[in-house]
Amino acid sequence: MPCYSEQVKATIQADNRRENGLWFELTTDQKALLGPLKDFLKTEVAPGAIERDKTGVFPHEIVRQLGAMGVLGMQVPEQYGGAALDTVTMALITEEIAAVDGSLCLTVASHNSLCTGHILVAGNAEQKAKFLPDLASGTKLGAWGLTEPGSGSDAAALKSKAVDKGDHFVLSGSKAFITQGTVAGTYVLLARSDQAAAGRSSADGISAFVVSADPKIIPGKPESKLGLHSSDTAALNFENLAVPSENLLGKRGRAFSDVMTVLSGGRIGIGAMGIGLGRSALEIAAKYALEREQFGEPIANKQAISFKIAEMATELEAARLLVLKAATLKDAGKDYTLAASQAKLKGSVEGVKACDYAIQILGGYGYVQDYEVERMWRDARLTRIGEGTDEVQHLIIAREYLKQFRH
Ligand SMILES: Cc1cc2nc3c(=O)[nH]c(=O)nc-3n(C[C@H](O)[C@H](O)[C@H](O)COP(=O)(O)OP(=O)(O)OC[C@H]3O[C@@H](n4cnc5c(N)ncnc54)[C@H](O)[C@@H]3O)c2cc1C
Repeated sequence: MPCYSEQVKATIQADNRRENGLWFELTTDQKALLGPLKDFLKTEVAPGAIERDKTGVFPHEIVRQLGAMGVLGMQVPEQYGGAALDTVTMALITEEIAAVDGSLCLTVASHNSLCTGHILVAGNAEQKAKFLPDLASGTKLGAWGLTEPGSGSDAAALKSKAVDKGDHFVLSGSKAFITQGTVAGTYVLLARSDQAAAGRSSADGISAFVVSADPKIIPGKPESKLGLHSSDTAALNFENLAVPSENLLGKRGRAFSDVMTVLSGGRIGIGAMGIGLGRSALEIAAKYALEREQFGEPIANKQAISFKIAEMATELEAARLLVLKAATLKDAGKDYTLAASQAKLKGSVEGVKACDYAIQILGGYGYVQDYEVERMWRDARLTRIGEGTDEVQHLIIAREYLKQFRH
C-alpha cells in the first residue's frame, strides 16, 4: 500500500458520490425506489466490490436481496410479481448499480433485459405465468443464449439445432459467453428449427425456447475475464435436450426479429452501465485532482487535467441524454432502434474513455486496485463488446439513419 495515498484514498472513497446530475425532478415512485436502492448499494454492495473483483465470487446473497427489492423484475407486470417500471426508471437504476459494481450491473441488466426481456417480448400468457414470477423475485436467475463459438456479431449464423418431434423439440448445440451460464435457473436458447428457404437470409428458421435448468444443459467453467469478475460467464453445451413444444417462445422460425427487439431494449441498459462506471471514475478523478498536489498546487489547476474533467463530464452527460431519449421513446411505444444503438455506442465509448482518463489523472495510483478506477475501466470495456460491438452499432445507426433518405 503506497503510504502517500491513505488520506487521499479516504477522501475519494468516502461515499459522497454526487447525485447523477439529473436536470429533472424524479417522480415520487422513482424516489421511493432509488433512495433505498442507493442506501443498499452504499452499505451492502460498495464495501465488497474490490474483494469480489479479486475473488470472482458470485454475490448470491446480494442478488437475492435485489430480488426482494424488485430489481430483478423491473419491467415485469405486477400480475407476475414484477415492479412494472418504465424504461427511464430502469436506466436510472442500471446506472446507479454500475456506479458501484459493474459485475452486479451486468448480472441485473442481462437478467432483466435478455432472458426476462425475451419472455416479455415473445411469451404467451401461459409462459409468462409459468416463468416470470420466479425470475421477477430472483428465485431463478435468467440466462439468454444467442452467441455461439462460430457466431457473434453475425448472430443469424447460429448452428444450434432444434428438431421437431411432434410434442417436443430436441435441441443440440453450443453457446459461448453466456451471462449467468452456470447460475441460471431459466434459460432462453436460440436454435435453428427450420432450414432457411433458398435465397432467403439465414435469420429465417431460428426459434427461441424457454427452458428450466436441466442436467443436459452443461455449462463450461466460468470464463476468466479482463473484468466483470463476479459476473458469471460460461459456455453452454446441450445434446439431445428435450424441450416441450409449449416452451417455444414466439413464432416458430421467426425468433430473429424478437432477438433484435430484445437486443435493442438491452442496449439502453448497457449504455447506462457504461455511464455509471464512467461517472464513478469521473467523481474519483475530480476529487483526487483537487487533493493531489504537484509542482506546489492541486493538479486540478493544470489545464491538461481540468480539460480532461470537462470532457468527461460533458460527454457522459451527452451519453445520458441519449440513454434517456431511447428509454423515453421505448416507453412511448415509438421506434427506438436508432436511439438505442446511439445510446449504447455513446454510453459505452464515453464510459470507457472516462475510466481511462481517470486512470491518467490518478497517475500511478490509478494503476493500482485500491483506487477502483482500473477495475472500472476493465468492467466498462465489456460495454463496447456485449449486446453488439461498437462496429455493429455503427452498422445499425447508419442503416436506420439512411432509411429516411432511401427511395
Ligand atoms: C462478458 C460477456 C458477456 C456476454 N454475455 C452474453 C450473453 O449473456 N448472451 C449471449 O448470447 N452473448 C453474450 N456475450 C457475447 C457477445 O454478445 C459477443 O461477444 C459479441 O456480440 C461479439 O461477438 P464475438 O465475440 O463473436 O465477436 P465477432 O463477431 O467475431 O467480432 C470480432 C470483431 O469483428 C468486428 N466485426 C464483426 N462483424 C463486423 C462487420 N460486419 N463490420 C465491421 N466489424 C465487424 C466486431 O465488431 C469485433 O470487433 C457476452 C460476451 C462477453 C464478453
